Amino acid sequence: MPKLVKFGGSSLADANQFKKVADIIKSDKHRRFVVPSAPGKRFGADNKVTDMLYGCYEAVCGGSDPQTEFKPVAERFNKIISDLGLSIDLSKEYEIICDNFKKKAGRDYAASRGEYLNGIILAEFLDFNFVDAAEVILFDSYGNFDADLTDSTLSLKLGTLKNAVIPGFYGAMPDGSIKTFSRGGSDFTGAVAAKAISASVYENWTDVSGVLVADPKIVLNPVVIERLTYRELRELSYMGATVLHEDCIFPVRSAKIPINIKNTNDPSAAGTMIVPESTEISDPPYIITGIAGKLGFSTINIEKDEMNSEIGFFRRILTLLETEKVSFEHLPTGIDTMTIVISDENLKKSPRLIEKIEKVAKPNNMDVEDGLALIAIVGRGMKNKKGTAARIFAALSHADINIRIIDQGSSELNIIIGLDGDDFEQAINVIYDMFILS
Ligand code: ASP
Repeated sequence: MPKLVKFGGSSLADANQFKKVADIIKSDKHRRFVVPSAPGKRFGADNKVTDMLYGCYEAVCGGSDPQTEFKPVAERFNKIISDLGLSIDLSKEYEIICDNFKKKAGRDYAASRGEYLNGIILAEFLDFNFVDAAEVILFDSYGNFDADLTDSTLSLKLGTLKNAVIPGFYGAMPDGSIKTFSRGGSDFTGAVAAKAISASVYENWTDVSGVLVADPKIVLNPVVIERLTYRELRELSYMGATVLHEDCIFPVRSAKIPINIKNTNDPSAAGTMIVPESTEISDPPYIITGIAGKLGFSTINIEKDEMNSEIGFFRRILTLLETEKVSFEHLPTGIDTMTIVISDENLKKSPRLIEKIEKVAKPNNMDVEDGLALIAIVGRGMKNKKGTAARIFAALSHADINIRIIDQGSSELNIIIGLDGDDFEQAINVIYDMFILS
């Protein structure tokens, strides 16, 4: 069975990285289908090609000359081509792109050219077929990704090919205009392509040796998670773990294809294996699998006498949130109290939300508190294990950290706590120490 291999921007940032990628692909004959990102940063202060393209298009829309604006991007690709010793000439492609920029082909079109051009170069370097994602990754006329049409088109196309490079991040609408996924969306293209070829595994190559138990910007040298389930990954990535695009789980999960996160700079490291829930999976080495969290939440606290016996109270509030198109995170309740935990980003979508809640709920008391952080402690190993919550709370209490919200579903897959944003990093560290180091 073929493998789908996806390489992120740092894995393709320059010719040296391209060579590592080619070695990885050529070392396993099953690695026949490749999804590349656009070149990423070569060093800390460098620019990602995708960001350069957004900037370039904006400048052209503001009246700048497309050729001048596009030149640094062209130079970046030309350097990769010459450093690899390839003889392709992309100047015709650059002309078309500049022309389309002038015709205002759109931001999505502009950003997608990073993956498109990188795909052409990689296909040439590997001597693989090039399949333009605009032919096989399809959106409907409203701009929604068309999973079924894409799956049938892509599997038909790739079924005829021995190998292929399919650029990540973009596809096309029925009228041919280019549409991208959200940032980091090449992961999603990889997942969709893995499903279409019924891959034995979706290898996602990046610059870290797998999913880490906690954010390395917060915890010093966190350990790598060897194995986790899709559901655990979903919980962690929703709560801020950034290894994979959060949507990319869905296509492979339905096809029960495991994802292997691997490091292009250390290919012999096992990385992280993400497997379906149904797979026989060994007991995790620690009770918790991972810790993730986000800043920037608020709570709307509503108090009303006899709220619990008032029929329709919750419905009225939830209907209001629906009509205001505001999604919320959690809804902890007491007998006569209800708290809506909501991200500040969502709260901003409805500037008069509080006033409107007052109108439909007629509370005795209501207040809004901001500056909340949420932390999710995730792990299949927590199920039926006594004392996990006690250990979390003891660790936080020892560190003098106050917990404002507690939420655990009966699946026991995660415990979510809300605390002051100021305590965020310290809380993650003490939980990490409690479960991983002690
Ligand atoms: N190049 C795009 C980005 O920077 C997509 C990707 O790399 O997955 O977001």
